[in-house]
Amino acid sequence: MIALIKKKGALQKWRLLIQVIFVLLCVWIGLDFYFFNQYLATDGLTAFHSRPPGVDAFLPISSLLSLIFFLKTGLIHLAHPAGLILLISFLLMSFVFPKSFCSWICVFGTLSEKLADFGEFVFGRKIEMPKIMDIILRSLKYLLLLFMAVAFLGMTTPVLKNFLDGDFNMICDIRMYDFFADISSLSIVIFSILILLSVVFRGFWCRYLCPFGAIMNIMGLLSPNKIRRNSESCINCNKCSQVCPSFIKVATLKTVVSDECSSCMKCLDICPVKNTLTIKPVASNKTISKKWVAISVIVIFLSITFIAILSGKWQNNITKEEYLDVYPHRNELKHN
Ligand code: SF4
Ligand code: SF4
Repeated sequence: MIALIKKKGALQKWRLLIQVIFVLLCVWIGLDFYFFNQYLATDGLTAFHSRPPGVDAFLPISSLLSLIFFLKTGLIHLAHPAGLILLISFLLMSFVFPKSFCSWICVFGTLSEKLADFGEFVFGRKIEMPKIMDIILRSLKYLLLLFMAVAFLGMTTPVLKNFLDGDFNMICDIRMYDFFADISSLSIVIFSILILLSVVFRGFWCRYLCPFGAIMNIMGLLSPNKIRRNSESCINCNKCSQVCPSFIKVATLKTVVSDECSSCMKCLDICPVKNTLTIKPVASNKTISKKWVAISVIVIFLSITFIAILSGKWQNNITKEEYLDVYPHRNELKHN
């Protein structure tokens, strides 16, 4: 497979490979978590299956609160430490190359991209949201982020600690599992509408609703590494603008400064004139090879994860006895 990718020489093939690996990783985590839940549901009568720490990646509220707690105290809270570790690595990769987490690693980003590819195949073109609707809808995720920022940053350290220590936070992953295992008709309708909208409008979820996406967008804007267009060698073929999944008019810009650029590298891959689209640090004229986007997401993910594992900050500190104790009462729990 690697030989085939090298032969074709396209970064998009590597991106797809990395996306597939992370989707498979999530399927593995999901299966592991299913068996862990079975152990709890049978009151410990089935074989013990340890909880996969990677499930913490799907707990955005707990991870964000854990990040604020970390920034305030310097301490890693051990209820869902992998959530904090993963959030830091996702933020870092989105800072190094704008929003690269979204188009290289995020499983929702991958799903959204494939749904949009299917939509493009069906409709024969990319359907763009009317400009005014696009502006209004894009502001939704920032409003949601602002609301969360006001609520979370206003929490004092003891209140934060109280929440993170509590049973509600301890089993928020199990409650999330319950939600999907016993999904309501209303939720199925909502998910179906979101899927349909993602088929019609490219990146509907990521562009308009994902609150994590809003944070990644901000990290992307802050990134020192930007795509630049050499207007002297550019032949104005417009291919870069047409291929951009984020509807950025690359062909009209000197530097891509956009909250929606996700470093997918499609524009660099398609540009027919060598060295016309390049990645350069803001304060330098030195070109960074586009392959470094792929290398950086993998290196950041693996190095931060291994450091966390080796330093004992990956697995949580909750015993199976504590889980078995709280599990039967999980629906009565309220956050404090
Ligand atoms: S095509 Fe280029 S400008 Fe558009 S999102 Fe991808 S990397 Fe950014
Ligand atoms: S694809 Fe390259 S040559 Fe064509 S418009 Fe974009 S930057 Fe210019």
